[in-house]
Amino acid sequence: MTHAPNSPEGRDIAHHLHAYTNARRHQEIGPLVAERGEGVYIHDIHGKRYIEAMAGLWSVGVGFSEPRLVDAAVRQMKQLPFYHTFGHKSHGPVIDLAEKLVSIAPVPMSKVFFTNSGSEANDTVMKLLRYRSNAMGEPQKKKFISRMRGYHGVTMASASLTGLPNNHRSFDLPIEGVLHTSSPHHWREALPGESEEAFATRLAADLEALILKEGPETIAAFFGEPVMGAGGVVIPPATYWEKIQAVLRKYDILLVADEVICGFGRTGNMWGSTTYGMTPDVLVCSKQLSSSYLPISALMINERVFEPIADESNRIGTLGHGFTAGGHPVAAAVALENLAIIEERGLVDNVRTVGAHLQKRLKGLEGHRLVGETRGVALIGAVEVVIDKAAKTALDPVGKLGALVASLMQERGVISRNMGEAIAFCPPMIITEAQVDDMVDAFAASLDEAQRQLGL
Ligand code: PMP
Repeated sequence: MTHAPNSPEGRDIAHHLHAYTNARRHQEIGPLVAERGEGVYIHDIHGKRYIEAMAGLWSVGVGFSEPRLVDAAVRQMKQLPFYHTFGHKSHGPVIDLAEKLVSIAPVPMSKVFFTNSGSEANDTVMKLLRYRSNAMGEPQKKKFISRMRGYHGVTMASASLTGLPNNHRSFDLPIEGVLHTSSPHHWREALPGESEEAFATRLAADLEALILKEGPETIAAFFGEPVMGAGGVVIPPATYWEKIQAVLRKYDILLVADEVICGFGRTGNMWGSTTYGMTPDVLVCSKQLSSSYLPISALMINERVFEPIADESNRIGTLGHGFTAGGHPVAAAVALENLAIIEERGLVDNVRTVGAHLQKRLKGLEGHRLVGETRGVALIGAVEVVIDKAAKTALDPVGKLGALVASLMQERGVISRNMGEAIAFCPPMIITEAQVDDMVDAFAASLDEAQRQLGL
């Protein structure tokens, strides 16, 4: 499609380098330009309406048109549009939000540190844990383990934690001291006939072997998403977190739960850690914290993590870390209002009931010629599309079939995302069963159309 140079699409092509986009292809096809949002829908500038099946970027929990969040932002803008948290300064919204987060944490937490994105939060965790190891007289304890397919962000350090090839390739990453262990993708990576439990046992053994090879005294922490999101919605196999945590405890390695996608209800509990019995020492959250109306992220640390950091800051004279906009009062006020809405409207219960319906509808597609596997928990799911069900293979190159299905869905008014061959579903938490039906019906029609185009 060609776009007039003075159209929004043409001007975007002329001036805008896009995130996570093939820049050459963008010059040919241009952007979808969103104009307004309404509940679970967005409208583009040509008046077409789409169900946002990904809640934007796994994030707009309360939907796209919540007036209470707008009002909260305006009130705070008028009263105190900016203040910071450096050098013993604070303000009401950041105090309220820190207290609120500690009060709803899945395990006892001590302090909250505020950042602006998931990447910055994970980057900060890595720095704080280095600082802590130095404080504890364990300067060798600085390595981090994350997982293949894991997603933790895109800064130099957090992209290193991320275990996806496109985040490393040509960026000369990962940096030193970040190690990757096997991913818990049962359908793709289990041996033939291997049960979920046996697979989990094998993954825990892989982790232990890596720790022993590197030296347990050199490993500071293990980072994991309760459910992997951007790696393709990978649900941990039965007994996985129990077995992984047993290994971490054995070698005194801290657990960092990256709840950037799972946090605030997505898996049917307030936290993915609760759904999967995780007891993290550090918890990272963002996205649904403010429904992404404004950028904000946070990390919570327990006493074990806080105490040595406090001592080190006392020894040095300051904790030499912080972002100008960290704990921004307007973002914090919006986050507080967003959490109030999630609680008052029982959105976590909605995630459970409507999520059960979503999972049932996705399961119902397993007989389709192009469906290899469906999986999910509560209101997050994925469908792996294949050409050959037995061999679990799709079109060459990887992602071509997934991209075809996603683009056919977009034509039918549903925006999803393919991560390779996994088509993801992570709609706003306010979605109804009827809207889930519309979304899955459009997906099923897209599968039929893809099958027809491929002559299968
Ligand atoms: N962690 C997880 C689990 C994520 O899903 C993401 C973003 N998709 C991030 C970290 C990074 O967050 P951001 O894009 O805000 O830097």
